[in-house]
Amino acid sequence: MQDIYDELGVKKLIDAAGTYTIVGGSRMSAESLQAMSQAAAHHVLIRDMQAAVHRGIAQLTGNEDAVITAGAIVGVYLCMAGCVSRKFGKALKLISKEDIARSEVIMFRAHRNPYDRGLELLGVKVVELGYPNNIDIVSEEALENAITDRTVGMLYLPSTDGGWVPPGGLGLEKTLAVCKRHDIPVVVDAAAQLPPKKNLWYFTEELGASAVCFSGGKDLKGPQTTGVVLGKKDLLRWVNENNFPNYGIGRMHKVGREELAGIYTAVKQYVAHDEAARLEAAEAMVRGYVEAFGAEDAFHFERAYPNEAGQPLPRAKLVITTAGLTAESTRELLINLDRAVFSMVENGYLYINPYTLTAEEADYILGVFRSINGKEKEQ
Ligand SMILES: *Cc1c(COP(=O)(O)O)cnc(C)c1O
Repeated sequence: MQDIYDELGVKKLIDAAGTYTIVGGSRMSAESLQAMSQAAAHHVLIRDMQAAVHRGIAQLTGNEDAVITAGAIVGVYLCMAGCVSRKFGKALKLISKEDIARSEVIMFRAHRNPYDRGLELLGVKVVELGYPNNIDIVSEEALENAITDRTVGMLYLPSTDGGWVPPGGLGLEKTLAVCKRHDIPVVVDAAAQLPPKKNLWYFTEELGASAVCFSGGKDLKGPQTTGVVLGKKDLLRWVNENNFPNYGIGRMHKVGREELAGIYTAVKQYVAHDEAARLEAAEAMVRGYVEAFGAEDAFHFERAYPNEAGQPLPRAKLVITTAGLTAESTRELLINLDRAVFSMVENGYLYINPYTLTAEEADYILGVFRSINGKEKEQ
C-alpha cells in the first residue's frame, strides 16, 4: 500500500544509528499517536492543556514542576531566559536589553557545544571557565571566583563515560554545592541522557539541579518537536512566564495541543516500561551480531558499551578484516539498498545500534551483512 512517503517520493530508512534528529529521532508508539489524533479533534484552552500536561509529567517523573518546550534546545534557551527573569523578578520582555546583556551565564569550556547557541540569541554574557581536557580541571575556588552579582545561572552538560563531553569541568555535585551557596540556579542539558529513566529525577530531585532538559524526540519517543524541562518551581515558573502562548520570546516556539498530548503519553509509557527487559533485548540483538561472524569472515562484530551518548545500552561495532571494504564503503552500501539502512561511522568504525531497531529490522540487517560477507569471500 502507498503511504505518505511513497506519495511524496521520500525514501524510507531503517535507522541503525540511534536517536539522531537528522533521521527523525525515534518512533512514536501507537498510543502516543492516538493521543495526538484525539487532541487534534477538539479545541481547548492551551493554558489549561499545558497546566494539566505539566502537572501530569511532574508527577510521573517525581519532580516539583515540568514545562514542555519545542525541543530540548528551546528548553535550555527558555531555562536560561528563566534564570534572567528570576534574577530581575519579571518576564524577559520587561527587562531591558542592557540588563540582559550584563547578565552572566557560567559555562565550563568543556561543555560548550553546538546546541548552546540559544545563549547568543538570548543576548546574555557567557562566562567560560577551564579547558576542554583533563590538564587543569576547574576547581571549586575557580567557580566560586567566577560568580558575581551579575551571575544569573549556570548551564551544565553531564559527562558520561564514552559520551562526547570532554573532561575539564568541575563535577556536577561540587558545582551544585558552590552554586547553591550563592543562590545560582544550575540548568542541566541532558537531552540524550536516557536511559536510565531514573535520570528523569536524578539530576533535579537527587542532586538538586534547578532544571534538567530532555529531548522529547529521542529515547522518550515523543513527538520529535518536543522537549521536556523538569525541575524546581522556583525556576520553572519563570520558564513558563516566558513560554508561549504568552507574548515574548517563547511565543516563537509553540508546541501544539497534539504534541502536548503526545509527549504526555510518551512520558507515561517511558516511566512504566521494563528497563531490564529492554536492555536484555538490546544485548540479545548485539549477541546475535557478535556470534554471526568469526575469524574466517570478511568482518566480525564486537560488543561496544556504552552507546554514542554514553548511555547504558550496547551496540554492535563492525570490525573489518578484509581489504575489500571500509567502514565508509559499508555505510554507502547500506544506505543504497532498496530497503535502505542509515548508520553512522564514528572514529573509523561503523556501528549497528539496537536503540532504534525492531527485532525484524535487526535480523534484516544481519542478513544483509551475511550476504556482503558471502560476496567478499567469493572474491
Ligand atoms: C540532542 C541534543 C540537544 C537537542 O535536542 P532537541 O530536542 O533536538 O532540541 C541538545 N543538547 C544535547 C546535549 C543533545 O544531545
